Amino acid sequence: MAGRLEGKVAIITGSARGMGKAEAELFAKNGAKVVVADILEDEAKQVAENINKSGYEAIACKLDVTKADDWKRVVDIAVKKWGKVDILVNNAGILSWAGVEDGTEEEWDRTMAVNVKSQFLGMKYVLPAMKKAGKGSIINISSIYGIIGSGAAAAYHASKGASRLLTKTAAAELAKYNIRVNSIHPGVIRTAMTEEILKNENTAKKVLGPTILRRPAEPEEVAYAALFLASDESSYMTGSEVVVDGGYTAL
Ligand code: NAD
Repeated sequence: MAGRLEGKVAIITGSARGMGKAEAELFAKNGAKVVVADILEDEAKQVAENINKSGYEAIACKLDVTKADDWKRVVDIAVKKWGKVDILVNNAGILSWAGVEDGTEEEWDRTMAVNVKSQFLGMKYVLPAMKKAGKGSIINISSIYGIIGSGAAAAYHASKGASRLLTKTAAAELAKYNIRVNSIHPGVIRTAMTEEILKNENTAKKVLGPTILRRPAEPEEVAYAALFLASDESSYMTGSEVVVDGGYTAL
């Protein structure tokens, strides 16, 4: 049986570990050729190597998502190697728990740059390749913290809220090129980002909050939502926000 992404080329940022890595592996298994793009070059190479060893196709590229020149280089590499780009997952992100009172200007600027300027740059520089292909699916990883507040993580909430609306306006702008743009809003997922917090029973309970399923998710549980949005199965979805949060925001 053909994979759900057979013949497609995908760039996934922040795919050296965590949810991005799970997406890279799942997309490759489903027939996509994957660019594993991350600031962590060695880890990205390892992910790509493992995918290739399993009989699927991937290459690793060093990418700092805040740098336009890096984006141009990575898109160029993908197009030279595989002729096109069909899918972009803007997944790279950082978390700072600092609030309005204790946050610094530097933290604010860095968080906004890595979490949301990156998504603007990614869409901008992948656009020529997608226009040429006559189609595309872009997935911006936001968060439930882009929908609700928590009383902490001021810059993070602001960046994820911005990602949500950037997605909707880009969906409206890029529909004329047959490019769909959707966001995913994960709840609490077990990755390096949440490792410390989930180790401790009290902080884990606090961060899980009202999660109906009363557990964090594994990265693969989000990757399946990304797979659906990346594939043609979601052909009538654009400007949508897909919440994968074990029911956190349902109550
Ligand atoms: P993670 O820390 O495991 O992975 C993030 C990846 O992004 C890392 O590989 C890191 O090297 C990469 N990265 C960071 N800065 C970069 C840069 N400047 N350029 C390129 N790559 C960079 O975290 P994760 O939990 O897998 O997070 C993935 C995405 O999901 C992030 O956008 C995060 O905000 C979002 N998210 C996470 C959770 C959660 O509970 N873990 C919840 C909601 C949303």
